[in-house]
Amino acid sequence: MERIGERMSLDAELVALPFYEQPHRELAEALGRFCDTHAELAAAARTGAPEKYGARVLRALGAEGLLAPADLRSLCLTREALAYTEDLLDFAFSIQALAAWPIQRHGTDEQKRRWLPGMARGELAGAFALSEEQAGSDVAALALRAVPDGAQYVLEGHKTWIAGAAGADVFCVVARTGDGPAALGLTALLVPAGTPGLRIEPIDMLAERDIARLEFDGCRVPADAVLGHRGGGFVVAMELLERFRLTVGAAALGFARRAADAALARARERAAYGRRLFDLPTVKASFADVEVRLNAAALLVARAAWEADRGAPLARHSSIAKLYATEAAQQVVDTAVQMFGAAGLVHDSLPERLYRQIRSLRIYEGASEVQRLAIADALGPRGRKGTPAR
Ligand SMILES: Cc1cc2nc3c(=O)[nH]c(=O)nc-3n(C[C@H](O)[C@H](O)[C@H](O)COP(=O)(O)OP(=O)(O)OC[C@H]3O[C@@H](n4cnc5c(N)ncnc54)[C@H](O)[C@@H]3O)c2cc1C
Repeated sequence: MERIGERMSLDAELVALPFYEQPHRELAEALGRFCDTHAELAAAARTGAPEKYGARVLRALGAEGLLAPADLRSLCLTREALAYTEDLLDFAFSIQALAAWPIQRHGTDEQKRRWLPGMARGELAGAFALSEEQAGSDVAALALRAVPDGAQYVLEGHKTWIAGAAGADVFCVVARTGDGPAALGLTALLVPAGTPGLRIEPIDMLAERDIARLEFDGCRVPADAVLGHRGGGFVVAMELLERFRLTVGAAALGFARRAADAALARARERAAYGRRLFDLPTVKASFADVEVRLNAAALLVARAAWEADRGAPLARHSSIAKLYATEAAQQVVDTAVQMFGAAGLVHDSLPERLYRQIRSLRIYEGASEVQRLAIADALGPRGRKGTPAR
């Protein structure tokens, strides 16, 4: 595989495919340069407090113009490259993109002016707050209330598992305004961090990331905090997740490539039975399976992103790419740990870190089981799209 950048693995052959255009190839080169020149930041982010380094990472990405991706293919390439380099680079980038997109898509001119330029420069950070304890996969069940009171809304309830919360300047929060039943009664609102009545409680997760619970206790925001229109919150969330779940597949690919490269280097230098580990037929077979998985995941992600960028219906491709790439990455990382043997289980070794970091990708932005349901439900009544049933 021909690589772009010294420290990063974007596959030059893949970026040369017709799914991508010249600006994507230039972006790939810029990402290569960014990852090569920010090795220190990546190392510091790994060892420091995640929320503190999140701000530094955002400023560095903003300074290089990398926080305003032009399209989904750019977003996916960026996530893959950053995830390959360091989990927390990808984490900071992806949460910022997740928070900026609904403002870009649904915001008023004033909302855009207030938040987007600062977010693109990495001087302001955003977070997206949808999940609650009793409303994860079942988004329509969410209960945080936003009660109209004169020219304000009063928020009462909680959100949980919110990524980037401690470092955020603004939260895009989906709350129940009760304009209709279940999914129809939800509204998206922009809530600045520091609003009285909003409390942030960090949660310690398997992989060190800035994740928190938000408590809303008489938290008041003005009526013009509504993003989009009242009752449109479910659509804001679903449109966002439909697009962004495919970028989770791209990040999974970055983690998996990193694991595969490390395992291959290890197997090639590790002496075993008078030869190298890599010379054993079953070890070779494992690496062949890894290579097939990486290629399949890369093509599914590229295809889904290309479909999105040309305006084609996206949901099915996005689910397929997310499901396959995250499940494949889990298997690839597991293979890497196996190849390292006991050394792969040492705390804070690369395989051990990747093993912890990859796990959540099969859960957030739609668990694998939910993706399977969505893919099966998209099959037409007469069989596969365009295929007559037998
Ligand atoms: C690292 C991380 C970051 C996150 N960041 C954010 C964030 O920034 N903002 C935010 O709002 N949320 C965030 N989340 C929350 C995430 O979106 C939810 O965890 C996810 O939607 C699943 O919800 P849940 O955890 O409540 O699991 P549940 O909905 O309780 O599901 C548990 C399990 O039940 C099964 N299941 C659920 N539904 C179905 C179904 N329909 N069919 C078959 N099986 C099913 C699946 O196996 C699933 O894993 C994050 C989570 C993690 C782990």
